Amino acid sequence: MDNNEHPENDPLYAGLKVQKGLAQPPNVNPYLKTRKRESKKNFTVSEYVEGILAGNITILSQAVTLVESAKPEHQQIAQEIIEKCLPFSGKSVRIGITGVPGAGKSTSIDVFGLHLIKQGKKLAVLAIDPSSERSKGSILGDKTRMEQLSREKNAFIRPSPSAGSLGGVARKTRETIILCEAAGFDSIFVETVGVGQSETAVHSMVDFFLLIQLAGTGDELQGIKRGIMEMADAVIINKADGDNIDRANLAKAQFTNALHLFPLAESGWSPKVLTYSGYYGIGIKEIWDMVDEYIDFVKKNGYFSHRRNQQSKYWMFESINEALKNNFYQDPKIIKALPAIEKQVLDAEISSFTAAKRLLDLHG
Ligand code: GDP
Repeated sequence: MDNNEHPENDPLYAGLKVQKGLAQPPNVNPYLKTRKRESKKNFTVSEYVEGILAGNITILSQAVTLVESAKPEHQQIAQEIIEKCLPFSGKSVRIGITGVPGAGKSTSIDVFGLHLIKQGKKLAVLAIDPSSERSKGSILGDKTRMEQLSREKNAFIRPSPSAGSLGGVARKTRETIILCEAAGFDSIFVETVGVGQSETAVHSMVDFFLLIQLAGTGDELQGIKRGIMEMADAVIINKADGDNIDRANLAKAQFTNALHLFPLAESGWSPKVLTYSGYYGIGIKEIWDMVDEYIDFVKKNGYFSHRRNQQSKYWMFESINEALKNNFYQDPKIIKALPAIEKQVLDAEISSFTAAKRLLDLHG
């Protein structure tokens, strides 16, 4: 036995004798690691809330991680934290920013953000990006995209919650807004790519919706979904620099005309069109003066709080829908029966309606 452990003790190697040795106590406390991890994760709800209200960014980040988690036990704590933070939220200006990839969102958010921070504001930059290949912070929310801003202590940049249903991702972002506001952030950006349905989700959680467009493509109004234009409180035309200035001005005239064709928005505000250059920092102040003007305008005419109330109602129904859906698809009876019924539909053995009814009846 001994010889197996220490082959040097074989009589073959005369003159060599290795002692058995004593077990050494580990020099690092083996419990330390787990204890440390536990203490990091195991804040009580009130510790989270106190930390957030004190503006502790580490605790805020951890609470956001709970909001984003799919685990029911995390969700439960997250909901309690949100509930307690709610009375301290709502005091920010929430801005939605959209534009197709390459429009200059990152560059613009970087300079817009610095502009606000120079005015003494605290800014949280969040994103909604439900598409799977862009998740994990690779493009949206990647801090390196907002290089200057990411070095500012008064900026909190958080990538999009990872892929999932748009409704789910958007709800998490909305809840994160509440936590950020409770942590003292008075300006919130919610960024999304200007493709797909995510603009509608962003629109449903912001006070002002900025659409970034490009000039110089020759067909400015093509490919822009009417719906997005209608949601915009301002269209800002980026890259108005160098020999692109004339084209930017032309695009401005075209957008202004196009916007005139829409009926007046419920807010009573006529959407503005401005040109700027994110890269060279031209026209930035004008954009933020306009946003301030809008906020003043809608606060005076009552639309600001009206819109927020409508949004709360919308999110109540969204949350109900999401919960009902999850409840259904996570029902073990449904998980078990679904593949066979799905196959029957694919094989045209039963209609989709019959299939749906059978599953719904099974769920009860
Ligand atoms: P995003 O995909 O919408 O986030 O766009 P980016 O901010 O990454 O910008 C896309 C490209 O456009 C980058 O190469 C930027 O350097 C460039 N860009 C952004 N803003 C401007 C601008 O104001 N003027 C010019 N000329 N280029 C810009």
